[in-house]
Formats: sequence, C-alpha cells, structure tokens
Amino acid sequence: METPNDTIHLLLVDDDDVDRERTRRFLRNLQINCAITEADSISEAKKHIKDDKIDCILLDYHIGESIGTDILSDSHYLKLKLPIVLITGQGDERIAAKAIQDGIYDYIPKAQLSVNLLESVLLSVLRRAKLEQELKAQQDRLEYLSFYDSLTGLANRALYFDRLKQVLQLAQRNDRTFAILQIDLDLFKAVNDTYGHAAGDNVLVVVARRMRECLRATDTVARLGGDEFAVVLTEIHSPQDASLVADKISIALREPILIDNHLIRIDSSIGIALYPEQGQNLDLLLMKADRAMYFVKRNQKSSMVYSEEMEASTQQSSFLKADKLSLAIENKELFLEYQPIINLLNRKVRSVEALVRWQPSDKTGIIYPGDFIPDAESSEAIYPLTYAVIDLALNQTKKWYDASIAMPVSINLSARMLDDSDLPKYLMNALDSHKFPASCVTLELTETAVMSNIEQARKVFRMLNKMGIKTSIDDFGVGFTSLKYLQELEVSEIKIDKAFTADLDRKFRSEIIIQSIAMLAKGLNTSIVVEGIEDIGLLQKLHRLGCQFGQGYGIARPMPDIHFPQWIQDWK
Ligand code: C2E
Ligand code: CA
Ligand code: CA
Repeated sequence: METPNDTIHLLLVDDDDVDRERTRRFLRNLQINCAITEADSISEAKKHIKDDKIDCILLDYHIGESIGTDILSDSHYLKLKLPIVLITGQGDERIAAKAIQDGIYDYIPKAQLSVNLLESVLLSVLRRAKLEQELKAQQDRLEYLSFYDSLTGLANRALYFDRLKQVLQLAQRNDRTFAILQIDLDLFKAVNDTYGHAAGDNVLVVVARRMRECLRATDTVARLGGDEFAVVLTEIHSPQDASLVADKISIALREPILIDNHLIRIDSSIGIALYPEQGQNLDLLLMKADRAMYFVKRNQKSSMVYSEEMEASTQQSSFLKADKLSLAIENKELFLEYQPIINLLNRKVRSVEALVRWQPSDKTGIIYPGDFIPDAESSEAIYPLTYAVIDLALNQTKKWYDASIAMPVSINLSARMLDDSDLPKYLMNALDSHKFPASCVTLELTETAVMSNIEQARKVFRMLNKMGIKTSIDDFGVGFTSLKYLQELEVSEIKIDKAFTADLDRKFRSEIIIQSIAMLAKGLNTSIVVEGIEDIGLLQKLHRLGCQFGQGYGIARPMPDIHFPQWIQDWK
C-alpha cells in the first residue's frame, strides 16, 4: 500500500490521559509521518479544527459528559468535512454504524487498536478523503462552467435564460417594463482570421468588460456563444431609455482595442425588444430582438428597437431567396455529401453524417449550407428542405446496407423543425418506405437550438426516443447547457464543437473543457463525438480525455456517395 510522503496532521481527541498516551504510542510507530495535535474536550477539538491545519481526526466516542460525534454539527467542521475515525468502546457497534451514516469515515473498537489496524484504516480514510476532494473540485468546476462563460466570465446562455424568466415574472407582477438587447459583433470572424484566435479571444474579453461597464449591477449581460451577446435591462421606462444604453454600448465597443500592436475597432449591431410592447412572452421577445439585430446589421445601423416595418422589408428579401430554394428542391438540385464518424480507439467507421449541398442547374460550383440554410430557416422552405434531406439520406444508406456496407446515418435538423408537428409522421413514413431501422438514424440539433426552445426540445426528444431514433446535441460547448437539462433530454450523444478541437494543442482550457464534457457525458450514459479533427495525431489524446468517436478533415472530408465505398475500402 502506498504511503503518503507528506506529514499527516492528526487531531487526537480523547479525555482520558492514559488512552491518549496509548494511541499516541501506536501512532508514533506508523510508517506514515504524523504530526499529532491533542485535545481532551470537544470544545478544545473545535478550536483546533478552526485554527490549525488538520488532515484527519481520531475521535473517542465518550468524552466526559458529551459524545464525540457532536463535532459533526460544528460549523468549521461542516466547511472542511475532515475525515474522522471514531474510537468506540465495547459493544458500541450500533453507535458506530449510526456515526458512519452521519458522515464519519470509519471506526476502530478501542480493544482492537493496533499499529497495523490504525495504519490501514488511516491510509484508506485519507485516500478516500483525497478522492472526495478531487470529485468536489470537479463538480464545482462543472457547476461553474454550466452557468458562466469560461472566457469572459459573463453569464452563459443557461444563466441568461434563467434570469430572463425571473425578470419576466417580476415585470408581470409589478407591471413594469424591461428590454432585451441582442448584440452581435460585426466582422468578428475577420479579427480571428487576420490576427488569430488568441487575439480574437482577447478582443472578446475586452468587449465583455466594456459592456459590463455600461450597465448597472442589476442588469444581466451574457455571452450566448461566439461573438453573440445579450443584455436584459430592468430599470427602464421607455424605448428611448433602452436605445440610450444601446448607444452607450456601441460607442464603448468602437473605442479601438490595442492587441499585439494592432488597433482593432469593433462595430456591433444591437437589436432591441421591449416587454410588453413587443411581446408578452420570452420566445416572442427574443425572436423580435433577433430580427431587429439582423435588420440593423443588414442596414449598417448600430441599434434599433423592433418594428413591424422592419419585418416587411426583411421578408421581401428572404422571400426572394426562399422562392429560389423551393424551386431548387423541386428540381432536385440538392444532394448530400457524407462524412465518416470513427471510433477513436479502434478506428472502425461507426456512421456517417449527411451534409446537404446545393448545385444550381444554371450555375457551376456548389453552394454550401452556410450560404442557404439561414435563408431556408427564415422561410417555409426549411420544411421541404429537411424532408428532402431525410429522403436522400435514407435512400442512400439503405442502398449501402443492401450492398453490405452497414452505415448508420446522422441527419441535421434546424431549430425550426422542433415546431414542425408533421415531423414525426414524416419520419415514420420515410423509415417505413425505405425499410430502414429507426435505431440506425441519429438526428442532430445544435445546443443553441435546444436551449432556445427547451420545452419544445424536451417534447420532441421524448418522441424521437420513443420511436427508437437516436438524438445528438451538435456544436456543444458554446452555450454550456446546464446539467439538469441534459439529464432530462436523455440524448444519445453529444458532439463537441469544433472550436475546442481546433484549440486543443494551443489551449489547456480547451482540453479541460473537452474532458469536463466527456465526464459529464459519462455520468449521463451519453457518448461523445469530437468534431473538426483536422490532425489525425489527436485521436489518442482525445480518447484519453474520455471521448469515444471523432469526425474531421483529418479522417475524411465530406464526400459524394459514389466515393464512399472506395474510401471505406482504403480506410480498412
Ligand atoms: P455541422 O453539423 O456542425 O457540420 C459539420 C461542418 O463542419 C460541415 O460543414 C463539415 O464539412 C465541417 N467540417 C467537418 N470536419 C471539419 C474539420 O476537420 N475542420 C473544419 N474546419 N470543418 C470541418 P458544412 O457541410 O459546410 O455544414 C455546415 C453546417 O450546415 C453544419 O454544421 C450544419 O449545421 C448545417 N447543415 C448541413 N447540412 C444540413 C442539413 O441537411 N440540414 C440543416 N438544417 N443543416 C445542415
Ligand atoms: Ca451536425
Ligand atoms: Ca457541429
């Protein structure tokens, strides 16, 4: 058994001088190095617990008129939760059992005290205490990570939504108004691309600090992910009040930031929605603040309160694009590429993710989803698009199955599909007509989509689970969903956002985050897929961090269906 190198500080509590002397003699003969502090009463013991650095307590059960376990209710003890070994008298087994229930680590009957027994009990108790301490530290860190953005220290999405709910309740009760500000940095991606991610991170930290300085202590500012921020303003009376704060923020952000000898100027777009004018519930308010933000961005303003006119002008432009998309779907201009997901340990291919592409018949070149999914999402086109993708994916993977290439498939769902009441029926029919097993289909929804509509997500996930379809939370880690939600959703897998993978070799923080997410997933019986593995050398490291599956350019880029059988042959 391994003995600790450091000196162990023991507190020996016993009112009997002779017994104390006897125990002390045993302790001196241990292999462990002990420094012994003695106390002959409970009050004396409490003083030492408070003032001294104690690692472990050896506690006599009968101490004068009192009982040793009185220590358990001491406030300093409760804070430190030191390991206690109880020394019990003849026939005190029942007392010992009760004491263990109350939080004592172990006990030794006085008559059996010996060097060997003391040594083995102390060692095991100290080891357990150390493990518990580590576990507690991990839990604290996860707890923190689940409510705060680790880069800027601002509230994260989970905490923001919690606050929003409270603010709404208060406003309803007291007939007050409040404002939601949706803030997006302009061209932030260019900062990252030009100056690197480290500079980008520094900018975000400065931006977060400036925002906080523009606000009162009662206002909440949150980082929702990437370069997206949000604010709730409580003590305001009119749209003008909210606009004033928004102006203050955009002026503060525009002040040049000096990073690595470069002056960086950050413009922002701020959309504002007020309760109750723009909406009585949070979904509506958030949606309108978001629409206002997009309007501001498109029209190169700095901030605006939501209005109906905005809506009309926004719709016109996205209607045009949506029309083209609807036509594209009818003309079968969409096709899928497939990217393999492998087991990090044995490198076997587990499944493929289907990624949609658009090849307009009148143009050369492929359009990638980043350039048309947002338009599809802001129109009705997202529904036929999703159905088309489901059909294409099932059709193809069924062909592979028939050719003895058994490939489960993951399909992306956009946030709006959560509200589509036809989705279950569609899925059921599609599985039926392609004769494809539900258990080989995973539907991916981004963490942001899930978190912004958690009630609905819960319903949809429950239904998918019932149908035997697997579920996955995509781009996880940006919003730090709280543990509570994840537990309820019973997801089959979590996909860690590629931002963390990209940073893995440069930032210890990313490593910690990946490891924490993996630990969290383990507790929930959920598997982990790491995305964005560009360097195949990372596979082992990621496996060591607790992740099971991976996907990325380093393994394979998304490829057209016809290339897949050959690829899988070569991969073997
Ligand atoms: P996603 O679901 O996170 O998909 C992964 C994206 O990362 C893909 O981009 C993929 O090509 C890219 N990728 C894969 N490995 C690497 C890597 O090692 N490094 C880097 N930098 N990138 C990698 P893609 O195909 O352009 O898709 C972008 C996003 O569009 C997807 O992100 C997904 O959110 C959305 N999307 C794709 N297909 C569909 C679809 O059928 N329906 C919906 N609603 N959304 C889709
Ligand atoms: Ca995905
Ligand atoms: Ca993803």
